[in-house]
Amino acid sequence: MTARTRRGRTLSFVVPMHNEAEGLSLLFDRLDAATAALEVDLEIVCVDDGSRDSTLADLRARAAADRRVRVVALSRNFGKEAALTAGLEAATGDMVVPLDADLQDPPELVTEFLTLWEQGYDVVYGVRTDRSSDTFAKRQTASLFYRLFNGLSDYPIPDSAGDFRLMDRAVVDALRQLPERNRFMKGLFSWVGFKQAGVPYARPARAAGTSAWSYRKLFRFAIDGLTAFTTAPLRVWTGVGVVAALVAAAAAVVLIVRVLVVGRDVPGYASLMVVILFAFALQMIALGILGEYVGRMYQEVKQRPTYLVRERIGFADAPGDRA
Ligand code: UDP
Ligand code: MG
Repeated sequence: MTARTRRGRTLSFVVPMHNEAEGLSLLFDRLDAATAALEVDLEIVCVDDGSRDSTLADLRARAAADRRVRVVALSRNFGKEAALTAGLEAATGDMVVPLDADLQDPPELVTEFLTLWEQGYDVVYGVRTDRSSDTFAKRQTASLFYRLFNGLSDYPIPDSAGDFRLMDRAVVDALRQLPERNRFMKGLFSWVGFKQAGVPYARPARAAGTSAWSYRKLFRFAIDGLTAFTTAPLRVWTGVGVVAALVAAAAAVVLIVRVLVVGRDVPGYASLMVVILFAFALQMIALGILGEYVGRMYQEVKQRPTYLVRERIGFADAPGDRA
């Protein structure tokens, strides 16, 4: 395994933020304390994902006072995956660590991440051992999703791994090359491969503010993830069709034999309706699933950018910058 050294290297934190002003000073204090002994140069890339509170103004002030702080302000709220993508593309470090602004990803863990990186791991991800800070319902739906995803996808997501991880520059560059607009980052992280290791940690509750994820959003997110990484829902209809055809053929044989043996049997309205309604429902489901994929193909084909940047602050190429 290749030995690496952190000396003279730069580590970039990438923090997507949507209305996180409340917890901002807490975040920077924790970051300062957690990284003081790391012996690497720091860069803190904050992505303002269309916040409606004072997040951007606060970040602007911080960037003016602290040369490690860089800000990418998106033109509106594009969602966490897009914000993360924007941050990964803007980060310049030799290692990059995506971090939630609410301190649910303890930055102290980066000490261990770095040690494993030095031992030759290209990706070191946090594994949530204790999700008791999430509600029971959220844990159950999350676990159902992971089982479904890993059952269907060829690129399983490690159990309970989130976006919190340390990635080598080579991995970040690989991610940047992926052209798709539907950025289901957990899936992409797994898809790129490289030498990976997990570090367990207990996930604390949000330090301040409230989660922007509703169940509706989470459901969309789950469908995004599944459709991005498996076509099984499309292919399953071939099997369903074959089984339905076999059942129909068997029923036909039974009916014909019955007519021949017992004679004509007129009443059959109820069974007929059941079969028709069932077949109709199946077709609608199949059409809906086709629609999910066709809709996503349409999104990709349009080639619209994943996000738009309104302003960059603190970067070497930003106008009027101190570099
Ligand atoms: N976030 C974002 N854009 C959004 C929603 C969330 O950039 O549209 C950020 C948010 O500020 C936080 C991170 O994504 O830094 C995780 O969000 P949150 O804590 O709400 O999610 P949860 O921890 O509940 O999964
Ligand atoms: Mg959170």
